[in-house]
Amino acid sequence: MENGIYSENCITDFPPITYPTQVSLLTGTYTGNYKKEPCHGVPLLNWMDRDSAPPILREYAAKNLQIYKINDDMGNNCQTILEMVGDENTASIAQFINRGSDYIFPERKTKLAMFYLLLKYLPGVKRRLIRSNSVIAQKLIEVFKKPKKFFDNSEPPIASLLWFISSDLLMHKFGFDSHIYKLNLLHIDKVIGVLIDNLKRMGYLEDTAIAITSDHGNYKANKIGNLNNFLKQKGLTNYHPLKKPRGNMDIAYYAGVGFFYFKGMNNSNVKNCWDRPTLKELGNYGPKRINLLEELFKINGSHLMYYRDNGNTSNKGLIHLKRKIKETGKIITGRIEYMGNGSSYKTRYISEDVDYDIFNFMPDDVASRLLDNKFHTIQEWLEATYHLDYPLFPDLIPRHLKNPRSADLILSNDETIKFGIHHGKQKGKNLYDHDVGLRKCMAVPLIIGGSLEIPHKEISYCKITDIVPTLLNILGKTPHKSVIGKNLV
Ligand SMILES: [Zn+2]
Repeated sequence: MENGIYSENCITDFPPITYPTQVSLLTGTYTGNYKKEPCHGVPLLNWMDRDSAPPILREYAAKNLQIYKINDDMGNNCQTILEMVGDENTASIAQFINRGSDYIFPERKTKLAMFYLLLKYLPGVKRRLIRSNSVIAQKLIEVFKKPKKFFDNSEPPIASLLWFISSDLLMHKFGFDSHIYKLNLLHIDKVIGVLIDNLKRMGYLEDTAIAITSDHGNYKANKIGNLNNFLKQKGLTNYHPLKKPRGNMDIAYYAGVGFFYFKGMNNSNVKNCWDRPTLKELGNYGPKRINLLEELFKINGSHLMYYRDNGNTSNKGLIHLKRKIKETGKIITGRIEYMGNGSSYKTRYISEDVDYDIFNFMPDDVASRLLDNKFHTIQEWLEATYHLDYPLFPDLIPRHLKNPRSADLILSNDETIKFGIHHGKQKGKNLYDHDVGLRKCMAVPLIIGGSLEIPHKEISYCKITDIVPTLLNILGKTPHKSVIGKNLV
């Protein structure tokens, strides 16, 4: 860290969940309208594909191997760092997002899936995790030692991806404050040390830059909630994509942040098609004709709501924002407007209440200056909000909602209650999670070290998408046109 570039305030993506954050981390861009814009197409861990009728449910889980579709789901308007480095050899170790890799470990798809399932569910977790960390580093050392065995020539890889998944598994199961979690971080540190020692011995270290980061932080909820009674009362039923599809709603994902999909009035007249509902439909929905835009705030712990205006396009649009003030129960409104795409994209964040704003930027001297009715770039939002909860949100929320695969309505809890819902099914029972917009989930550390040629400096703030252009700059390569991040050197 002290011999390279580092930052304690690297701001990750929305939502701060492994997918999409790792896709943004490895492409240097964010999500958006992936069919039209330079951006990637992965909005979330679980999402609904409305292009099919009946719609298909995506769930990136090792158990059903859908996880491997993520490489296609990214779309053709972005590239991974492995694609951007060109024709030279590349390696991906235990990383599912590996488009452009010449060597992938483990070689068989089912092996990596099994590897994660074993880690997660079998006893003897400590020994298994320690072994998994070591295997990842040892494999890369082997690739450097005997490139001929893994590629068609004897050149070592110019770029390699490694994913130590053990820290996320332990964080959810035992907590970020547990002894085993901390021990495991120390073990990953040790394993990286072994990798560095070996690179040094082989004479590669002086030509190497190693970037170390995390895709999200964490928080601990007070309790696990249950939504079954609430949904029943409101006439909301979960979608099942069976032969005879049923249900009028899909909660694709809801730990601390809920992503809701609803069935619009079939304007396209295609059987079983889930058209996107209009605001009017959302205000008068289902057999009980409930106003979702108000009623969903009755879910315990919820306090923020985001949804699109009718008729948003890729280049221009409006996102409605609501916040329930905890103390009084009063609901205030605001909005984000966006224009442009790619490098011309800017957003304007407006509060419709004089005393409060949705993300609570008003009390901060710096952030409040951007509530000036003007459009601002991602860099301006970063500079003004990196130190607060909901950092970068006025920029990131519209990017997410531009993706046609994203939900109709997003509901965010405070950190008190989480649910653990995946496509309508209650699964997780762990109190530890990381999906809400609090700073402790959104700000992660970044270290870029290795060669002594890397400049020594602390960066006060940066974004997860800055890593790709920085590494490419060190390599003397040009980033793909979709890259939003900037070179930190
Ligand atoms: Zn996680």
